[in-house]
Amino acid sequence: MEDCIFCKIIRGEIPAKKEYETDSIFVFHDITPQAPIHLLIIPKAHIKSMNEIDSLDPKVIHQIFEVIPELAKKNGIFEKGYRVVNNCGTYGGQTVGHLHFHLLGGRHLQWPPG
Ligand code: AMP
Ligand code: ZN
Repeated sequence: MEDCIFCKIIRGEIPAKKEYETDSIFVFHDITPQAPIHLLIIPKAHIKSMNEIDSLDPKVIHQIFEVIPELAKKNGIFEKGYRVVNNCGTYGGQTVGHLHFHLLGGRHLQWPPG
């Protein structure tokens, strides 16, 4: 997608701190971290939101969730715990229209969210 900032990050047109990459997924550090560790895990395919998850290859969905504990281990948050968040749509607090999962950790996170 031409104007999507996350597609631009994948293409290297906008700088980002890359954490991990495969043919189908890309992981980078959130520009406004909400916790000591705050990564964004995205499919390279432009999918707008969780509402369109059925258009994503199930193998890619599997890859995304498989890599999360690996990323948690690598970032030292596996043992104490972490949170995976998807914001969907306006009421869900989604601000970027390219499906992404937040991986947050490194502090005791509060619940419920605001
Ligand atoms: P959401 O509000 O769930 O749509 O999450 C979008 C996330 O993308 C926010 O946490 C932003 O801080 C983050 N973000 C926006 N632009 C960039 C960027 N250029 N590089 C890294 N993270 C970004
Ligand atoms: Zn995109």
